[in-house]
Amino acid sequence: MKVLITGGAGFIGSHLVKHYLKNNHFVTVLDDYVTGSKKNLKEVSSDNNLNIIEANLIDFDFSNLTQFDIVYDLASPASPAVFEKLSFEIFKVNSIGLINLLDFFVKSRSKTFVFSSTSEVYGDPKVDPQPETYYGNVHTTGPRSSYDEGKRFAEAVIAAYVRKYSIDARTARIFNTYGPFMNKEDGRFISNFINQALNNKPITVFGDGTQTRSSCYVTDMVSGLVNLGETDNLKGEIINLGNPDERKVIDVAQLIKKMTSSDSEIVFKPIGEDDPKQRCPDIAKAKKLLVWEPIIKLEDGLKYTISYFRNI
Ligand code: UDP
Repeated sequence: MKVLITGGAGFIGSHLVKHYLKNNHFVTVLDDYVTGSKKNLKEVSSDNNLNIIEANLIDFDFSNLTQFDIVYDLASPASPAVFEKLSFEIFKVNSIGLINLLDFFVKSRSKTFVFSSTSEVYGDPKVDPQPETYYGNVHTTGPRSSYDEGKRFAEAVIAAYVRKYSIDARTARIFNTYGPFMNKEDGRFISNFINQALNNKPITVFGDGTQTRSSCYVTDMVSGLVNLGETDNLKGEIINLGNPDERKVIDVAQLIKKMTSSDSEIVFKPIGEDDPKQRCPDIAKAKKLLVWEPIIKLEDGLKYTISYFRNI
């Protein structure tokens, strides 16, 4: 197969690239390295089946590219720490960039489009767990709104292309994901806690830590995305991908402190505006349509991730 992965130098994207290369497919990566990194693809950079193009979807000229079997669109900054700093990049890539990519997809008669949306479309949810049918509770102009509304707009654009051009597009609402090749600096709780614990620095819990997250190990996320791209008859479907093992942030901080045998103290810092109080995916739809569910337990995934951060 020929696969295009935008954002292929990012955390989840680079794992997806390696999956397709390992299975002898041809992979083209489009990435502008705003948040992705060349280092993430270093181990596969000499693979003859890999073509890396440094470009931004917003102004990329697609005329030299031809039909793909699957296009995965993972091109967007995704960490809350940059939602304000990179707000215009986020708005543009999820609007102009997405539309450019979809126009190429239609013109090239490519076959399947997979879009990476997010649990952030549910905002600060009033229902827990969140099913795909929940419309969400988003502060439209708050500090997280570039990402939340950018992705909501993107979902609406894709729905319009499905209606107008009858393209086979599918959307994953990706919940918190962690594992090797996370960017050490991008401010996520799991990467922050592990790096703080390994360096015996204070572990920074925002708020009182009773807010919840449900964290999915990256190999499980990749198998979910692959099933979403390769299963028949999913045109127009929107499916949650994540691990429903919901934990309090403070409990994850304590678990990481224990697993790293760290002397770090846990300190409490002010929580950001609109930080969701609860988050857990309802994955009944993924179980049914993708025959998929995560298999890596948090304790095991953390073990692998701690070992990765110890060694870089
Ligand atoms: N968080 C924290 N300490 C940190 C980074 C994040 O307590 O150093 C909290 C954050 O306030 C949120 C949760 O951990 O409630 C998850 O944050 P993250 O940035 O990983 O992603 P989010 O789930 O908010 O998109």
